[in-house]
Amino acid sequence: MRPVHAHAAQAPKSPLAPFNFDMAAPSPAGVVVRVLSCGLCHSDLHMLDNDWACTTYPFVPGHEVVGVVEEVGAAVTHLRKGDRVGVGWQRSSCGCCDDCVRGEESLCDANRALIIGHHGGFADFVEVDARFAFKLPEGIDTNDAGPLLCGGITVYSALRHAGIGPGKRVGVIGLGGLGHLAVRFASALGCHTTVFTTSPDKVAEAGEHGAHDAIVARDTEWEREPSAKLDIILNTASAPVKFDRYVNALASDGTLSLVGVGAGKVVVPFSPLMAKRRRVMASPIGGTVMIREMLRVADTLGVRPQTELFPMSEANAAFDKLRANKVRYRAVLTR
Ligand code: NAP
Ligand code: ZN
Repeated sequence: MRPVHAHAAQAPKSPLAPFNFDMAAPSPAGVVVRVLSCGLCHSDLHMLDNDWACTTYPFVPGHEVVGVVEEVGAAVTHLRKGDRVGVGWQRSSCGCCDDCVRGEESLCDANRALIIGHHGGFADFVEVDARFAFKLPEGIDTNDAGPLLCGGITVYSALRHAGIGPGKRVGVIGLGGLGHLAVRFASALGCHTTVFTTSPDKVAEAGEHGAHDAIVARDTEWEREPSAKLDIILNTASAPVKFDRYVNALASDGTLSLVGVGAGKVVVPFSPLMAKRRRVMASPIGGTVMIREMLRVADTLGVRPQTELFPMSEANAAFDKLRANKVRYRAVLTR
């Protein structure tokens, strides 16, 4: 047994406090990672608050982990002690269904999340199926890599499946952790990007991420229309959004892609959807093949998050800032 020092909440919406537990040796297919840093995603906050009614307490958040392999299971051949790896939302899957075989493990019926029924990365160590510990390109710094492993892959995969490419016009709803990475990826990939933000002070900042336009918008109240119809609109907002006006802002065959988990039900008007053959899709993180591609693209094109660093001991301050929508643009906890 390995003694682990972590930070955990004991009840919904309560602050984190030091929490110690014992970790078993890794399973034959598993790996234990010594945590160096961990991003703070809004999904950690949804989980802390038990928004999705699946949180178990004590709850140790953190699923944008960067660390060093400490111990490998007997059957693991692709990782060694000392390798620098990243771990995101997913910790395991069945490994043999059609989705797993084609590297789309996030679609597997048996996919398991790092922080559901399992302790996450706000800890000295995390344990995960070795398939979900990704060797990191040398050019990506430890404190920058974490946010790519959940926020980055989520927006990258959603944009790829919505048909992103050079010259596409992409709209991004919400300029937060996911949203700013979506803008950075889309701009780096040669798209014209428009941000829809509820925060007027982010209009000027949007350009620093590579956005070409930014519009103050909340539900159907927009300060103005975008200059042209959009091929893809990616919703990254953490709260429910009314989509009527966004559907009308799509070009023919355009796609409204949903990754923000603010809506229990998605309501879209039928006629404008049908008249221009528009689509609505939703997308969960990304599988191992897409994660590797995303890391290569981020490395090659220089796509990185804008981070605010907090020592792990100040995790509550990071959560408070995230709850207040004041983080610019991803909090990363360091050890
Ligand atoms: P975040 O950093 O807090 O950013 C969310 C942004 O949403 C805010 O910065 C804000 O942007 C916007 N927003 C907040 N309240 C809003 C409202 N009432 N109406 C419209 N926009 C609002 O959160 P995040 O880490 O990027 O995560 C965003 C969402 O994605 C969360 O729901 C998270 O659980 C989800 N998520 C999904 C996946 C997946 O696999 N699908 C993966 C990771 C995260 P502005 O200030 O610009 O308005
Ligand atoms: Zn996340």
